[in-house]
Amino acid sequence: MAGKSSLFKVILLGDGGVGKSSLMNRYVTNKFDIQLFHTTGVEFLNKGLEVDGRFVTMQIWDTAGQERFRSLRMPFYRGIYSADVKEPESFPFVILGNKIDSEWQVSTEEAQAWCRDNGHYPSFETSAKDATNVAAAFEGAARRVLAAEDRSDHLIQTDTVNLHRKPEPSSSCY
Ligand code: GDP
Ligand code: MG
Repeated sequence: MAGKSSLFKVILLGDGGVGKSSLMNRYVTNKFDIQLFHTTGVEFLNKGLEVDGRFVTMQIWDTAGQERFRSLRMPFYRGIYSADVKEPESFPFVILGNKIDSEWQVSTEEAQAWCRDNGHYPSFETSAKDATNVAAAFEGAARRVLAAEDRSDHLIQTDTVNLHRKPEPSSSCY
């Protein structure tokens, strides 16, 4: 296994009730809880995955509606916001249309046309309830980040400790 893994921060944005918390819960715990919005207080969950032979940890941040979202003062949010303003077309957004098991409010054609016209964003039609395309959508987001030419603002390289490495006999401590 490679000595380095990549940590990606992913932030779920969208109106209240569209299924952000349910998507995070489905992806990370593979569960769907109809009462989730009463109980969830989780700000983020981590999920490790392998994408095209690379090991990635996705740190998935949930948000709870526009009011709370505006009050966030997290560095990841400021980074996303400024990237959004400066170059929205190159920011690795992924668009999800959720609840395809029940409420179709936007057709596939409409969604694809919007994504094409607003920066060629990849889009996924998902269901947190029956798990359709949920993993594919998060993996799609990871692929976009991996493929980005300049990843330095969005990617933190973390060194992992090699437990099998023998100490250097000549090394000294100060
Ligand atoms: P959030 O406000 O965006 O975090 O939305 P929630 O995850 O709290 O979901 C809002 C409501 O929609 C809850 O009652 C969920 O059970 C329901 N819901 C979420 N995802 C789906 C889905 O894919 N299909 C269906 N049928 N209901 C969903
Ligand atoms: Mg929520």
